[in-house]
Amino acid sequence: METQDLQGNRPIDDAIRKVLEQSRPLAIVQAGDPVLRRRAAEVPTDLDRGLLAELIAAMRETMLAAPGVGLAAPQIGLGIRLAVLEDPAGVPGDVADARDRRPLELTTIINPQYRQIGHDTAIWYEGCLSIAGWQAATERAVTVELRFTDEDLAPAVERFSGWQARIVQHETDHLDGTLYLDRAVLRSLTDNAAYLQRWSGPDLQPARAELGF
Ligand code: ZN
Repeated sequence: METQDLQGNRPIDDAIRKVLEQSRPLAIVQAGDPVLRRRAAEVPTDLDRGLLAELIAAMRETMLAAPGVGLAAPQIGLGIRLAVLEDPAGVPGDVADARDRRPLELTTIINPQYRQIGHDTAIWYEGCLSIAGWQAATERAVTVELRFTDEDLAPAVERFSGWQARIVQHETDHLDGTLYLDRAVLRSLTDNAAYLQRWSGPDLQPARAELGF
């Protein structure tokens, strides 16, 4: 029917279908592409569920292959307010404890908005699949409340803390055109090899002392 065709051909549907035509894993856009600097568009809550499920699956596959613990739609060139998060927390126990890093199951956040709960912040090294190869120390709220639409297109409110809150803030920021380097202490910048060799331990103090931040 014509009306269904018209509904099925909304620009957002076409944009998602175009992404899904690509091979897997999807290509990850790097800093310098304007899509990473625009405010992404709201996702209509009557989006086709099958299309949404396909998009989530493609983004999850791309995130896990990278590997990463979060991927926002602008990072695959799709300027819509949607991100996937999943963290196996596969780091040594002392590092996980210091960063309050606990496993996070696949979580889809649509049209998310976070607000800080309390005043506590934490500073740790953070990286981004769209600034490949680099990490920098970034201060984040320890606990946030997130209002979002979930993978079933239902409204949700959830609190996240520790590393999970960091991932939530990083991915939500992507949807407003903000990259972690906008918030990072630039003097701490390190490439991945140096991070793994020198600064990936449970304590940030050696990096602060030796890099001077
Ligand atoms: Zn990122």
